[in-house]
Amino acid sequence: MKITILPVGTVDRKVLAKIANDLLSIFPRSSCLISRDTLPIPAGAYNVSRRQYLSEMILRDIRRYAEEHASERPLSRFLGVVDVDIYAPGLNFIFGEAEFLGKAALISLYRLKPEFYGKPSNWSLFTHRAVKEAVHEIGHTLGLRHCSNPTCVMHFSLHIGMTDMKREDFCPLCRRRVEEYIGRYEP
Ligand SMILES: [Zn+2]
Ligand SMILES: [Zn+2]
Repeated sequence: MKITILPVGTVDRKVLAKIANDLLSIFPRSSCLISRDTLPIPAGAYNVSRRQYLSEMILRDIRRYAEEHASERPLSRFLGVVDVDIYAPGLNFIFGEAEFLGKAALISLYRLKPEFYGKPSNWSLFTHRAVKEAVHEIGHTLGLRHCSNPTCVMHFSLHIGMTDMKREDFCPLCRRRVEEYIGRYEP
């Protein structure tokens, strides 16, 4: 699999480098690069009364970018990263969103920073959270649904405490499924 990390709006490149590095240990047969392009956050995505951005509109732009930059590898995935608060209709906020079995995924760093919760900043905690959300959303693009195991990276996070409970990696069951899926395209 070829993973391209795509900043959307202003994002700290150091965080992207850490995500790229850790994704390689979760997906060892993959390549991972950080795009030189930066997508703008679509102006229409901002909801003035919520002071948040509509995730699906950002995801749509990532999908368009993915279609224009198709990889030579059978499996290519594009992970957009934003540093603004995102939401989906019916939810107060979301950590990320992905196209099920599609090429595009999105995570937001906004609510992963300990500062957001009034805690002192903590680089290690922050970046581990970002990697978990990245693996989770990429997992959806590889056909994985939510897992009932609270320590599995595919467990749904309703709040940051649930993200902190999870490991960066898949549980054995999800790992088997994801390897099977990747193996179908890249034996
Ligand atoms: Zn999910
Ligand atoms: Zn699992």
